[in-house]
Amino acid sequence: MNDVLILGEVKEGSLDLKTLELLGAGKRLGGDLGVGLSVVLMGDAISGATEQAVSYGPDKVYKLEHPLLGGFKADLWVESLEQLCGQINPKILLMSHSFIGMELGPRLACRLNTRLTTDCIDLSIDPEDGLLLRTKPVSGGNAISVFKCPGAPQLATVRGKVFPPAEPVDGKGEIVGIVPEIDESMMKVESIEIVKEEVVALDKADVVVSGGAGLGEADGFDMLENLSKALSKSFGSVMIGCSRVAVDKGWISSDHQVGLTGTIISPDIYVAVGISGAIQHLVGMVHSKKIIAINKDPGCNMFKVADYGVVEDYEEIIPALVKKLEELS
Ligand SMILES: Cc1cc2nc3c(=O)[nH]c(=O)nc-3n(C[C@H](O)[C@H](O)[C@H](O)COP(=O)(O)OP(=O)(O)OC[C@H]3O[C@@H](n4cnc5c(N)ncnc54)[C@H](O)[C@@H]3O)c2cc1C
Repeated sequence: MNDVLILGEVKEGSLDLKTLELLGAGKRLGGDLGVGLSVVLMGDAISGATEQAVSYGPDKVYKLEHPLLGGFKADLWVESLEQLCGQINPKILLMSHSFIGMELGPRLACRLNTRLTTDCIDLSIDPEDGLLLRTKPVSGGNAISVFKCPGAPQLATVRGKVFPPAEPVDGKGEIVGIVPEIDESMMKVESIEIVKEEVVALDKADVVVSGGAGLGEADGFDMLENLSKALSKSFGSVMIGCSRVAVDKGWISSDHQVGLTGTIISPDIYVAVGISGAIQHLVGMVHSKKIIAINKDPGCNMFKVADYGVVEDYEEIIPALVKKLEELS
């Protein structure tokens, strides 16, 4: 039977974290189906990333290297991926729900006459027919649905941070070099590089201190900054997050927002200050390793997922916490 195929993404010469997460998920699905796992990488100089992919234990790594595949040229990438699918006919094809996956997924589904499910948060195999069960939030995150579709390949994009990343193994997988048949005449859309000046990489932080409506005013974030500085002396990179209400009130920019329509994170420590724990927020942080909640309301939802909770006005607690951390550091 044909393999589970992962579309890998390469950032600055290395596999990105989402690809490692897909590798972990793909390995499990392949095991359940009794088929192998393959990875496809595309680009103009991807030898290093190809070797790296082998070390995570797939059976095959398809290396689609071509000078025109440098950068992300959607027309050429989709053409190359279609050619590969024509050759190897994967049973399942998974992509990250990144801008690359979101661009390629629908176009490839159309070309291959199959169905795509986007932004999946869980995947499994239906033991009855071997089709992919695709779990994803619907109705603005208020419900979770499981979809099953016919068609080949079984195609899905997968949200980041929902599967643990694969660990390196003693990889012996085969590297299969393929030069796709592409040329510039296939490019219908010109690529534009957008450079963002300041990026808030919440998903890279070890600790996230988040504020919500309970802060009462924008100045509440100054207090969270003090806590963040005190924590950074002992806990690596600490960043400020927030709920959507804090963004809506104009207290902080939207790139700090955690949740369904913000960033999905799983830091070592998540500190939720004055955040009630609406489902759309929880979706973004519930996989944090330790959750600390500070809230005046003992019945708030956030306490249901917290490992430690303080029922108190944050203006009382945060300065005391900062003082204690400074004494200890
Ligand atoms: C389609 C859709 C997408 C959404 N996406 C997101 C998303 O990505 N992220 C997100 O966060 N929300 C999102 N929301 C909004 C979400 O439903 C909630 O409205 C929001 O998360 C609530 O923010 P909050 O907890 O800060 O505010 P509230 O729910 O108002 O909670 C404030 C909390 O602060 C506490 N508090 C008040 N004063 C103090 C004090 N002095 N000290 C300590 N605690 C205090 C209160 O007890 C309360 O629990 C989305 C909603 C929809 C419909």
